[in-house]
Amino acid sequence: MTSPAAGFDLTSLDRATLERELTARGLPGFRARQLFQWIYQRDVTDFEAMTDLPRPLRTALAAELTITTPRLIGRERSEDGTEKFLLELDDERRIESVFIPDTPAMTFCVSTQVGCAMACAFCLTGRMGLVRNLTAAEIVGQVRLLAHALDLRDRAFNIVLMGMGEPLHNYDETMTALRILADPFGLAVPPRRVTLSTVGLVPAMDRLAAEPLMPNLAVSLHAATESRRREIVPIGRKYSIDEVIDACRRFPLPKRRRITFEYVLLAGVNDSDHEAHQLANRLAGLRAKVNVIPLNAAPGIPFERPSDAAVDRFAGVLASHHITVSVRKSRGRDIRAACGQLIVEGGRRSPAQILAAKIDRNED
Ligand code: SF4
Repeated sequence: MTSPAAGFDLTSLDRATLERELTARGLPGFRARQLFQWIYQRDVTDFEAMTDLPRPLRTALAAELTITTPRLIGRERSEDGTEKFLLELDDERRIESVFIPDTPAMTFCVSTQVGCAMACAFCLTGRMGLVRNLTAAEIVGQVRLLAHALDLRDRAFNIVLMGMGEPLHNYDETMTALRILADPFGLAVPPRRVTLSTVGLVPAMDRLAAEPLMPNLAVSLHAATESRRREIVPIGRKYSIDEVIDACRRFPLPKRRRITFEYVLLAGVNDSDHEAHQLANRLAGLRAKVNVIPLNAAPGIPFERPSDAAVDRFAGVLASHHITVSVRKSRGRDIRAACGQLIVEGGRRSPAQILAAKIDRNED
């Protein structure tokens, strides 16, 4: 190995990049495969314990390279079995990840940012503003940590990028994380078990459409009329519903897959029959399903949860248009692990300031 200045975080690289880094340092590329197997398959992060590597190499790696794993500092279990994990990063920022134990699928909901810049009106994470992007190592580190803590490394599980943050707003690190997760020498989570949820960043959706690794796509619409959506989802001021739906129509869906449209139902705001008909009309001809999510009310969120009858009526209107619709069971509400309820200290600017600055800078 060369000088310590050449060090890097081993877990922030996909295997192809790690191979290049190692060969550039005069090491055989197959060491990347061995390192992946130790870290992701055998859960070993102490270089000295990697016994099929020569001892001098282990010493050199330990001197130069780091392996990032978020620290588990809190764990809460809901009465429905959902568990929320509070994790601390190297800079003492905190994030949350959630385990949802539904059978047959077990699901890890992971974060891609500390906070979020998107400022959706019903979302506590949005209130934090964006503090910073997570690295690929921190995104994958959540999965490693949850799999270890729950003793699920040898079991199949799903991953949803629906925790804190907008994954496509942290595009490169998210994609690197997906490659690491999918690697057969890594955690070997196939893309069909991964769902990426976006609020509709159109250029990044088009970029995603060209990726060789294609996760399931979930698009957070939350309204079917432009003015309503702009109130609920401020990024709707930049990308209209038409533009988002057009990006979905361009998206090269694998056979038998559909795009999920997430729709948080807010009493008296977006739960009318009219809105349901509009939504169905917009989705006509798309391989789509709608996931209706009755709001998880929280202090400081200026909306109410609709009645069960209103939820059923909204779903019924969609079904009458032959739209596949599901109503999401709310999981972990008693521990604030449900959708839109993840929040930890660390916010800086207000969400409105963050978004206004981004739109001014013409960023995604
Ligand atoms: S709902 Fe998602 S995109 Fe919107 S503010 Fe919350 S975390 Fe960000």
